[in-house]
Amino acid sequence: MTLSKEALNQVGETEQEILEIPVLPRRDTVLFPRMGAQLIVMRESSLQAIDETMSQDRSILVVARKNVREMEMTSQDLYPIGTQASVSRVLKLPDGTSSLWVQGERRMRILEVVQMEPFIKVRAVPLQESKPSLETAELHMRAILALFEKFVHLSPNLPEGIYTAASNADDPGWLADLIVSSLELDVPTRQEVLELLDPVGRLQRVSILLAKELDVLEVQNKIHAQVQNEVDKSHKEFYLREQLRAIQKELGETDPLLRDVNELREKMEKQAMPEEVKKRAEEELARLSSIPPASPETSVIRTYLDWLVNLPWSQETVDNLDIKAAAKVQEANHYGLPKVKERILEYIAVRKLSHNRLRSPILCFVGPPGVGKTSLGKSIAQAMGRKFVRISLGGIRDEAEIRGHRRTYVGALPGRILQTMRTAGTINPVFMLDEVDKVGTDFRGDPSSALLEVLDPEQNHSFSDHYLEVPYNLSKVLFIATANILDTVIPALRDRMEVIELPGYTEEEKLQIALRFLVPKQLQEHGLDAGQIKFTPGTLRHMIREYTREAGVRNLEREIGTICRKVAKLAAEGEAIPRYINTSSVEKYLGPEKYFWGSAEERDEVGVATGVARTEMGGDVMGVEVTIMEGKGKLILTGQLGDVMKESAQAALSYARSHAHSLHINGDSLEKSDVHIHVPAGAVPKDGPSAGITMATALISALSHQPVRRDVAMTGEITLRGRVLPVGGVKEKVLAAHRAGIKTFILPKKNEKDILDVPAKVRKDIRFVPVDVMEKVLAVGLINHSGLAKS
Ligand code: ADP
Repeated sequence: MTLSKEALNQVGETEQEILEIPVLPRRDTVLFPRMGAQLIVMRESSLQAIDETMSQDRSILVVARKNVREMEMTSQDLYPIGTQASVSRVLKLPDGTSSLWVQGERRMRILEVVQMEPFIKVRAVPLQESKPSLETAELHMRAILALFEKFVHLSPNLPEGIYTAASNADDPGWLADLIVSSLELDVPTRQEVLELLDPVGRLQRVSILLAKELDVLEVQNKIHAQVQNEVDKSHKEFYLREQLRAIQKELGETDPLLRDVNELREKMEKQAMPEEVKKRAEEELARLSSIPPASPETSVIRTYLDWLVNLPWSQETVDNLDIKAAAKVQEANHYGLPKVKERILEYIAVRKLSHNRLRSPILCFVGPPGVGKTSLGKSIAQAMGRKFVRISLGGIRDEAEIRGHRRTYVGALPGRILQTMRTAGTINPVFMLDEVDKVGTDFRGDPSSALLEVLDPEQNHSFSDHYLEVPYNLSKVLFIATANILDTVIPALRDRMEVIELPGYTEEEKLQIALRFLVPKQLQEHGLDAGQIKFTPGTLRHMIREYTREAGVRNLEREIGTICRKVAKLAAEGEAIPRYINTSSVEKYLGPEKYFWGSAEERDEVGVATGVARTEMGGDVMGVEVTIMEGKGKLILTGQLGDVMKESAQAALSYARSHAHSLHINGDSLEKSDVHIHVPAGAVPKDGPSAGITMATALISALSHQPVRRDVAMTGEITLRGRVLPVGGVKEKVLAAHRAGIKTFILPKKNEKDILDVPAKVRKDIRFVPVDVMEKVLAVGLINHSGLAKS
């Protein structure tokens, strides 16, 4: 069949032979002229088409399919333009498919489908391309080649030779075909290019597609480069580290971990560790060297080993048990305290005689703050030539504080006992446990049970710390506990200790301590010469009375320190410094007086009596006030009184009522009035029975309108019948009363023996009146008390 000229012109071509040619339909390939491709053929009809053409001229029309989803194919599925190709190298594969190589030759347009069965055959006409002007073609070709060069360079999958092939292409249409077949494009786009018959137009279209692909490729490359960079960096680091190790090895230097291990091993060998501990350390060392250095385990093991090798296991100071020398140290450090010093010397003597074999008793210094508990401990250590360490147990509620946390905790450490032993560096320091009276208990376990283990000579040779896991020997440690009051120390602990009481100092003792110890010490600490400036005894006494009120000398020391500091500042500024500190300059340096000495009542008053209480600070005087007002016989108690004290007030009131007649109290008025007892300072909780007679005296004074002597202080428990029972802490109370300028001190007869403990100087200043019944208290305490009828 021949087409008319018009028909041929419609397809844009000259007179050409029209071919009847078998078709190879393709789902995924658009073959371009002059391009070769390896194809796999599966479809039965296609296989037949190949058979057919192989037996003839080996020519076939490769055409892309539009509708690839449909298995069944119709003539409408074929794109109208395909590429005539010659088939070579057909390989029948065992699975029934064939592999063949096709070489594209020229574009052809399908004119009509001749048959669909058994294979597709069409009538088609070859397409001629228009001839472009050479110049425009050149320009476009050069531009696209530049782009293509870049593309080939960046894309990883293209063979290098393809650029050479492209640069040798001498016609624009060919170049466009070559480039477009090396881009990864979808079938419709490729087909669109195939159908462009104007070579320059095709080249332009391909340029655009190439530029787009190039963009994508560039972004991909950039991302790839970044990733590669990161990977390279870590590779590089690893590589460098390995090199460093090798270099260090070559230079005879070991790597840090190895150095650590060696260092630890050396330390371990120097220490005479117990077998069990040594074994443990060896195991951990082996583990440390076997795990990679970057593992988090490393630092855990490292810290643990650090503790193991740095704790003292065998280092020991040699005890100096020379009693005379010890006595000298004691005298050089402390004034007074004869009983305490004696006891300490006895202790050293016994150690000497028993050749250190005797288990040391645990000493416990009990007394208010600033009486020298800590400094006594220090001088024991000094006298014996031992190290001195201390921890404060105040407020500890958690057993782990004493015994440490198990190693499974993040950041676990040994408890305070072992931490302090490490600081001491020897296994036999003097170890002070401050504030054993302030150890608390709560849900985190009971720290006092751990403390019991520490202080028990039967157990403390193998003290177990949760962190350390191996037993630690504390039996050579000389423990000294301190407490402000004994009452709150748990009984089990109290039983283990030998209590030495330091009740507090008299004014005279304080003066001597200040003159001999505190002043020289403070002068030295502030860089002042002893000759440069003097505190007269009068000044110090004034400071003791008006600037401090305490059983110990801590505040006094602080006030002396303040004056020294101010003087030192003057000296540093080049100003003249005073030679003597006198009473008036004290006010200049320390401000107005803080306390009024003799804070006993100013006047003899009705309804106010002076009691004395024992406190953590030693003792203190305390006024009891009573007011009677109209009411219904109610008793009001204020001032944070505890239950025992409230009951004691009740007892006092009942006593007054039952003795109303003999006490000259109007019984009727009692019925119609309320009694209010208040004990300042209102914010401080108070308890105990020892204010009984004081409350009774204030009460009877108020009811009978007889004033109380202001210079009388008293202590004693009262019974309903008016008997006076003994109380505790007499010594502290007397000292407090003395500090406050009291002249007469009423105390229970049964406490008379305690007066002997009071320093002689104080005894001289105070008149003691031991009493057994309330009447005697009133006889001494009330003015105008008209000798009560003996009931
Ligand atoms: P505590 O431990 O009882 O609270 P400190 O031992 O801290 O008291 O004593 C406070 C200060 O008072 C220390 O500087 C101490 O040297 C000094 N001090 C206490 N008592 C005496 C004393 N008898 N002789 C000399 N100095 C003393």
